[in-house]
This record gives sequence, structure tokens and C-alpha cells, in this order.
Amino acid sequence: MDQLIEDVFIDGVARPGTGDRLTLEDPATGEVFGQLSLATIEDVDAAVQAARRAFESWSRATPGERSAVLTRLAAILDERAPELARVESRQAGKPIRLATEFDVPGTIDNVAFFAGAARHLEGLATGEYSADHTSSIRREAVGVIGSIAPWNYPLQMAGWKILPAIAAGNTIVLKPSELTPLTTLMFAQAATDAGLPPGVVNIVTGRGVDAGSHLVAHPEVDMVSFTGSTRVGRQVIVAAAQTVKRVHMELGGKAPFVVFDDADLEAAVHGAVAGALINAGQDCTAATRAYVQRDLYEDFVDGVAALMAQVRIGPTDDAATDLGPLISANQRQHVAAMVERARDGGARIVCGGRAVPGPGYFYEPTLITDAGQEAEIVQAEVFGPVLVVLPFNTADEGIALANDTPYGLAASAWTRDVFRSLRASREIRAGVVWINDHIPIISEMPHGGFKQSGYGKDMSQYSLRNFVKHVFWRLRAVLERG
Ligand code: NAD
Repeated sequence: MDQLIEDVFIDGVARPGTGDRLTLEDPATGEVFGQLSLATIEDVDAAVQAARRAFESWSRATPGERSAVLTRLAAILDERAPELARVESRQAGKPIRLATEFDVPGTIDNVAFFAGAARHLEGLATGEYSADHTSSIRREAVGVIGSIAPWNYPLQMAGWKILPAIAAGNTIVLKPSELTPLTTLMFAQAATDAGLPPGVVNIVTGRGVDAGSHLVAHPEVDMVSFTGSTRVGRQVIVAAAQTVKRVHMELGGKAPFVVFDDADLEAAVHGAVAGALINAGQDCTAATRAYVQRDLYEDFVDGVAALMAQVRIGPTDDAATDLGPLISANQRQHVAAMVERARDGGARIVCGGRAVPGPGYFYEPTLITDAGQEAEIVQAEVFGPVLVVLPFNTADEGIALANDTPYGLAASAWTRDVFRSLRASREIRAGVVWINDHIPIISEMPHGGFKQSGYGKDMSQYSLRNFVKHVFWRLRAVLERG
């Protein structure tokens, strides 16, 4: 399957980009299975022009017409689900079970949600807030949206970016990560097959430095929706500021996992291992820092180490595999270097801490203790299968430590005490606080960060709130004529 992939999708037509070549590699084997010709800034210009042309009619399509396309899209993706899962697993190095049970059905459910949300228009704000005027709220598309996505959940990220945009009548140009473009292109093709007019969704697979930065600075782009690291997010905000675009930022995370001394220990241990190792830890909401109240600390560390030893590392196409590889040699090198620096700084590697020999970019499930709160391994994103555990004494201390990083995307608290759970949900500064669980997401509920994890929301009705206009009707003139 070492073929030239048509990685640019403009005006409903797929073709190779006009830039330089890049090979696609299976992270589980290192095998090359495809070649891209990357999008250039000229390809990005063509995509933005197509989106601009399509905006005129798509923004006037009725909610019912948009909903009908999305309903057909959900059915087409459902038919193509096995192929989507297979491709997602291969390009991103995901265990096939994760792609089959999480990535693909989650995306289809999102499409179905937005098929409904497109028609659900809130009119609750309509009324006389000024004595002689009536106010109403319109859902109003802003224009062309330029979106940038990362490589860790390519299909889900495509859905999160494209769906609210087009449900509300916008058109979009999306740049997926150049490492993982395939399921995004399949999504765009499925949308076209479902009857989406040409130009409403356009895909340009290119590098961040040229295609990405050109897209987010483009004067014909009205809004930027970015998912990726906080470092690149800062650059995108600066670029978008030149033409004062709306910006939606879904950035990095360093999720705390706070275990109080009344928690169900076994549930917490299972939650920590699953939450830390999902997608080989390459998840912005992954459990990365477990804070465990002193009485449970030793048992928690022993329990996590024992469970990590049972995790099955293996080929991504084997349904029994729990843990797949990291996305690339570079990413594995980054993870290994962070673990080495932690070790050099005096932390204890309880288990793991090594690359798995053989082909692919596998790294052992890794548990670290005895790191200080200020250590890099506690403060910075690792984006690998690595969990650090630290003890705390009082609830005040546990919550303060949980809040002590620049990030605020996600967090969990483990307790059987209703007051502690309420306190944790109120005081931990994160876009989501799970109680006695870690990771689940659902189409009806928003996803998005606090602090340096960004702002704005993906999924749910909240993602549509960028697209509103206030209409202020003067009442008196109407009455005078009557
Ligand atoms: P990254 O920031 O390196 O790249 C993200 C995207 O930005 C890629 O498509 C890349 O090509 C592009 N890009 C790079 N430089 C650019 C520039 N100057 N202008 C425009 N685009 C540019 O992130 P990554 O390594 O692909 O993904 C991992 C990161 O994504 C982690 O930090 C993770 O936490 C974050 N993430 C966040 C969420 C969320 O919902 N908050 C979800 C998934 C991933």
C-alpha cells in the first residue's frame, strides 16, 4: 500500500498536494505504507476560496437541509466503520480495539448529535429587555473557519472541528496532522457522498510551518479553531490576531488524578492505569499526575505497578492488545528523555522506563514516584504511557497540588464522600472534573480547557455558541403603524 495519497480535498475533489513528498509510516512496525504530496500555501489559498464560494449557499441552507446531510453522513460512516477503524489503527498506531470501540463510534455519535443540534434552535432569549424593543437571537454562521488538528485522535478531531462548523452554516478548511491525514480525508469523502455541497468541507494536509501558519493568518478566514499543543497554540493566537479572528483553542493538558483516603482503592487503581495508558498516554486528558492521600499511598503504588505488569503490548491489529506504540521515533525519544531526566533528578522508576526492543515505537507502561511537585515530569506534558504518583496529607493540600500546573483541561477526584466530591468539582480548575472515573466523553457535553489549556468548547450545544447574533426590533414604530 505504498501509494501516492490524494491528501488535498478541495471543492469536493481529492488530489495530491503540490508540495514536497512525505512518507507515511505504521508506528507499530515502522513500515512505510503511503506517500503524500503535501499541501502548499497555494493549495491552502485554493481551499479557502472554495470555502468562501460555498459559504453563500451553505449559510442559507435551512437547518433541516443541513441536518439531512449529517443524518446521511452518520449512516455512511456506520457502513464504513470497519475500514475507518482499520485505517485509524494503522496510521496512528492505535490498538484496533480502541479504534473500533472508541474513535469510530464516538465520531459517528457526534455526527448524529449534530444532525439533531442543527435543527435545535434556542429561542429562550426572545423578549422585551428594553421597554420598547424586542430582542431575538439568530444562529448565524461567521464564514470560513480555518481548523488545525493534531495526530492523536485524527478522526475524532476531524469530527469535533467540522461538525459544529457546518451544522451552523459555516464552511471549513481543515489541516490535519501530516502524520495522520487518512481518516480525515475519508470523513470528507463520506460527507460529499452524503450530499454535502462541494467546498463546504476542504482538507489540506500540509506542514504546520507553511500550510498551517498560512491558513490561520489568511485574511479570508473568519475564525480559527485549533487543537494541539499550548506552544503552537500561542503562535496561532498571534497569527490570528493580525486580522482579529475569533479563536477557539484546545491545547495541552496535565490532568491530575486525586485519590482521597475514603476512595474505593481498587476502582482508583484501575481508573489510573486505564486513564494513564489510553492511546499510549497520547491523550490531552490522560491521567498524568496521581495525588494519593497518605493512608492509601503505598497500596495505590503497589496496585498500579501490579496492574501495569498485566498490560498486553502487541500488534495493533490484534484485538487482545491493550497498549500500542507511540506515534513516531521522535515522540518515543521525547518520552524516554523526560523519564531519564526524572530519574537523574532523583525520582524512582517503579516499573517500565524503557523502550520495547524490536520494530515500532513501543514504550513500556511506566510508573514514577519520589518526584518533587516542581519536577519537569510533574509539570510538563509527557504524552506517553507514564504516570507519576505523589502523596498528600490533607484535602486542602491535595486540591492545591492538583491546581499547581499551568494547565487546566481535565481532572478526576476519587472519593465516596459526597462533600469531598462536591468540593473537588468546585475547586479543581479544569474544563472537566470526573468523579470516580477518568476519560469518558459524551457528545452532549462540552470539552474544553481552563488556564493554558485554552478556551472555547468542542462538542455539545456549547460549541455552537460562537455562532449567534442579537437582533433588536424597535417595537414602538411597529405599534404606531398598527
Ligand atoms: P502540535 O501543536 O505540535 O501540532 C498540532 C497541529 O498544529 C498539527 O497539525 C501541526 O502541523 C500544526 N502546526 C504546527 N505549527 C503550526 C503553526 N505555526 N501554525 C499553524 N499550525 C501549526 O501538537 P501535536 O503534537 O500534533 O499534538 C499533541 C498536542 O495536542 C498535545 O499538546 C495535546 O495535549 C494537544 N491536544 C489537545 C486536545 C484538546 O482537546 N485540548 C486534544 C488533542 C490533543
